[in-house]
Amino acid sequence: MLTQPLKYYSQSTFERICAKAKEVETPFVIIDSATVEDHFDALRNNFPWAEIYYALKANPAHEIIDIVNNKEGGFDLASTYELDRVISHGTDPDLISYGNTIKKRADIKYFYDAGIRMFVTDSDADLANIAAMAPGAKVYVRILTEGNLTADWPLSRKFGCQPDMAMDLLVKAQKLGLEPYGVSFHVGSQQRDIGAWDGAIATVKVIFERLKSENNIELQMINMGGGFPAQYIHQTNTLAVYAAEIQRFLIEDFGATLPRIILEPGRSLVANAGILVTEVVQVSRKSNTALHRWVYTDVGLFSGMIETLGEAIKYPLYCETSSPGTGEESEEVVIAGPTCDSADILYEDYKYRLPHSLKEGDRLFWFSTGAYTTSYSAVEFNGFPPLKSYFV
Ligand SMILES: *Cc1c(COP(=O)(O)O)cnc(C)c1O
Repeated sequence: MLTQPLKYYSQSTFERICAKAKEVETPFVIIDSATVEDHFDALRNNFPWAEIYYALKANPAHEIIDIVNNKEGGFDLASTYELDRVISHGTDPDLISYGNTIKKRADIKYFYDAGIRMFVTDSDADLANIAAMAPGAKVYVRILTEGNLTADWPLSRKFGCQPDMAMDLLVKAQKLGLEPYGVSFHVGSQQRDIGAWDGAIATVKVIFERLKSENNIELQMINMGGGFPAQYIHQTNTLAVYAAEIQRFLIEDFGATLPRIILEPGRSLVANAGILVTEVVQVSRKSNTALHRWVYTDVGLFSGMIETLGEAIKYPLYCETSSPGTGEESEEVVIAGPTCDSADILYEDYKYRLPHSLKEGDRLFWFSTGAYTTSYSAVEFNGFPPLKSYFV
């Protein structure tokens, strides 16, 4: 289905992006800086009791780092490369957490030497490495969460451990001279069931209480990860509804005085600020009687659209040649990328409708593509260069 731009962007934002789009060759993403700023403010206003640590992997552009720095937000980082990039902008190390449970000893030392003192863990082996390479640091333990079925892009199976193990690790952390600091979870990205936070917060509460009563350890912090929504084709609740519900879950479990709360939004901060513009390379049929035409574009799974894997994320699609309402005939198509890999099909089960007149050279606009596009783009698969981005 083609989409109305004004459902996703204000008129002025859409015009600003389209004006820039006219100047450059496809494919590219245009990010509207003002929208990123608005989303940062919205996160802060809706979650006044939380600190915002941007999950850099969603989009590591320098312009976005500057926006987060200007707003005095923090960063959740996963590698030394991300650290170098953020540090080069002069970010205060106290506003950085090392949020990857999978890390080399040398990487832990690199973060520690740069002044970072907050580390996640979910295993004995990693905890021992943190104790050795980051003496005295604050450690928080990531727990497994439910919610894989209701998140469009699940994140909760690979990372985290069972609550029992989390408690063991926090007790061990203290014995190893580290500061047992808190608990983290990630309910899955683009999580549509707000109830997923309820269960996770209740588990965190049990960990806080048991550690206090049995080990005299007072945890200080809950890191609630990301999972907050961006606007794609399938509707979600508003951020305000997420915030009100999550606040209610927290107060139910922790009462009026909450521990330190950190949120790590990625998608919800940057996705809606972006539009990915692509060009139709070819339109064809597989047989004379085939019902669906194939539309090949100059982006695919390997050039920024990896989240179409399994058709997980369904981006709103807009086509200049035929705005909805013009009455032009449209038809269901299969949409695929330009590379010589047969996995490079964006949407085959889910059928977008495109104008019957669609032809080579027409431009397609994928909305809400500011997150997990440029950062996922292959460097040189089939020689295609990485996806470019421009800021307005
Ligand atoms: C990817 C990631 C995030 C961001 O998640 P979104 O759903 O994009 O907001 C936050 N925290 C951690 C640890 C992550 O890996």
